[in-house]
Amino acid sequence: MNSPDTAATTIGQLIGGEQQLTGGRTQEVFNPATGGADRRVELASKATVELAIAAAAAAYPAWRATPPAKRARIMMKFKELLEHNAEQICELITLEHGKVLSDSLGELQRGIENVEYACYAPELLKGEHSRNVGPGIDSWSEFQPLGVCAGITPFNFPAMVPLWMWPMAVVCGNTFVLKPSERDPSSVMLIAQLAQQAGLPEGVLNVVNGDKEAVDTLLTDARVQAVSFVGSTPIAEYIYATGTSNGKRVQALGGAKNHAIVMPDADIANAVQALMGAAYGSCGERCMAIPLVVAVGDETADAIVAGLKVEIAKIKVGPGTKAGCDMGPLITGAHLKKVIGYVESGVKQGADLVVDGRGISVSNHQGGFYLGPCLFDNVKPGMEIYRDEIFGPVLGVVRVKTLDEGMALIDQHEYGNGTCIFTRDGEAARYFSDHINVGMVGVNVPLPVPVAYHSFGGWKRSLFGDLSIYGPDGMRFYTRRKTITQRWPSAGVREGAVFSFPTNR
Ligand code: NAD
Repeated sequence: MNSPDTAATTIGQLIGGEQQLTGGRTQEVFNPATGGADRRVELASKATVELAIAAAAAAYPAWRATPPAKRARIMMKFKELLEHNAEQICELITLEHGKVLSDSLGELQRGIENVEYACYAPELLKGEHSRNVGPGIDSWSEFQPLGVCAGITPFNFPAMVPLWMWPMAVVCGNTFVLKPSERDPSSVMLIAQLAQQAGLPEGVLNVVNGDKEAVDTLLTDARVQAVSFVGSTPIAEYIYATGTSNGKRVQALGGAKNHAIVMPDADIANAVQALMGAAYGSCGERCMAIPLVVAVGDETADAIVAGLKVEIAKIKVGPGTKAGCDMGPLITGAHLKKVIGYVESGVKQGADLVVDGRGISVSNHQGGFYLGPCLFDNVKPGMEIYRDEIFGPVLGVVRVKTLDEGMALIDQHEYGNGTCIFTRDGEAARYFSDHINVGMVGVNVPLPVPVAYHSFGGWKRSLFGDLSIYGPDGMRFYTRRKTITQRWPSAGVREGAVFSFPTNR
C-alpha cells in the first residue's frame, strides 16, 4: 500500500475518516539512528480533540447497533492487511523509534495477536443466562459497550500498545480516540489507514497526535467514558486521578524496574543469554526489560558478571535498519543525556562500572543517539541506578546471600511490573512465583509478557486501576454488565401486590 504518511513531512490527525492538518503547533520527529529530524508532527489543540470526540460520538449509535460478528469480520480483514503491510509498518517503527527491524517485527506480531483475540468478540460478548431464577422468571447478563473510549500510548511500542487497546474496544461496540506518542507517530497513522481499508466506518477510530493539551481534553470531556493509558508512572498516576475525578473508568499502566533472581543452581550460560536480550534488547526501552540481576551468592554473581562481559563484547550497535545489528539508538538526544546521567550517578554512588558503553561511535551515524551496553556490579538498593527506571541499556548486578533477601528487595521496590527467577529448583521457583508481589512472573523466562488471550498488568505503582490490559480483562474494561430479569405472566391471570422482598423461599 502506498501511504501518503510515509512520505509526509508533517504528520497530522485522523478525524471522522479524514487525514488532516489543522494548522496547529508542531514538533520535530527524530530519526534516532541519524539524529536528523526531517519530519514534524502536529500537536492537536483542545478544539481539534473535541472534533475527534464529536466524530467518535456521532459514529457510536450505528456502530453499537452493528452485530458483533460483522464488527469481528472487519477485524479479520484488518489482521490480513497488517500482515500484508508488515514490512512497511516495521520500517516506520524502526525509522522513528530506532529499534532493530527484527524487534519491530516482534512488536507488530504481538499487536496482531491482540487483533486475533478481538476477532473472538461474538464469543466473548455472549453473556450469561439463567432460566427460571424464580417461577417463570429468566435472567441474563450482557456486556454492553460504554460509548466513546480513549487511549493514550507511549513511544516504546508505537504499534503494539495501541493494538492492545482499540481493536478490543471497537469490536465490543465502542468508538475510539487514540492519542499516540508524539515521538513516533507514523506507524500508528498507517495502521489506522489499514483499519479504514478493512471497512472500519468513519469516526469509529480517530487518531489525534498531540501532547498534554490533547490528553487533558480527553481526560475532562464528558463524552469520553473510559481511558486506557500506558506510559511512565508519574503520568499514569496523573491520568488515573484526573480521569476518575472526571467520572471516567480508567486503567493506567506505568513504569517498571524488573529484577531477575539468579539462584546458585541456575544454568548460568543460559541465564546469561536470556539476560542479554532482556537487558539490552530494544536498547533497554521496554517496560518488561530486566535492568537488575539479583545474584544469590558471590559465586553466582561472579559467574554472571564474567559471562555477561564476554557476551556484551559481541553486541553490534548500529542503525536498526542494518542487518546484523543487535541494538539500535535511544529515542532522543535528551533521553540519551538522561541515561548517561544515570551511568555517571552509578559511578559516583560507588557501583562498579564493569562495562562502559559511553562514547560509542557508529560509523556514518555520528549524530545518532547511541549508547553501548553498560554493566554495573555491586549495585546497592540506596543508589539511583537501583531505584529509578532508567529505560536504557544499563544492567546492574545486586549481590544477596539468600532467595528471601532477594525477594524482600523486590517487594520493597516501588514498581511491581515483571520479574523472573533462573533456577533448576522447582520448589524455589514455586515459592517465588507464589509469594512475590509482582504482577507478571517468569520462571527461566526473562520477559514474561502474557500472550494476547491472557491479560497484562503489573502490581504496586506499575498499574493504577482494577483491570489489567488486553485479553479477558480488556473485554471487561471496554464493556459494562447489564443484568435483565424477565417474566411473561399468562394473560388474564390477576396477581396481588407483594410487599415482602422477592425470594425463592
Ligand atoms: P510518557 O509517560 O512520557 O508518555 C506516555 C504518553 O503520555 C504519551 O502519549 C505522552 O504524550 C503523554 N504525556 C506525557 N507527558 C504528559 C503530561 N504531562 N500530561 C499528559 N500526558 C502526557 O512515557 P514514554 O516515555 O512515552 O514511555 C515510556 C514509559 O512507558 C516507561 O516508563 C515505560 O515503563 C512505560 N511503559 C509501560 C508499559 C506497561 O505496560 N506498564 C508498557 C510500555 C511502556
